[in-house]
Amino acid sequence: MRNKFSDFRRNGRLKFGVLLPKMLLGSLQLEWKQCGRDRCRCAAGDLHGPYWYRRWRDETGKQRKQYVRLDRVEQFSIAIAQQRVISGWSVRQALAKIRRMEKELHNV
Ligand SMILES: [Zn+2]
Repeated sequence: MRNKFSDFRRNGRLKFGVLLPKMLLGSLQLEWKQCGRDRCRCAAGDLHGPYWYRRWRDETGKQRKQYVRLDRVEQFSIAIAQQRVISGWSVRQALAKIRRMEKELHNV
């Protein structure tokens, strides 16, 4: 029997080689990190990164965070934009945000 999940598995694997939902809550953000080692350059303020994270609120309202590999940022952006379209966000708004983030990424 066909259902959404089996479609997603088929398409997800075929297209991307990884299991990735078509829609995701939240937004993508760049973050810089301190690793915590005393002698590391980051202890003096030269932080690691930037790294991409997806941030969202779960069903209970708790803030959640997920690391996003660089080669999956585009897929995550699309999945988040699609979720926003479904939930009423305008496409233009979502694309403008993606463009701003891309610009931010190229400036670092
Ligand atoms: Zn460090």
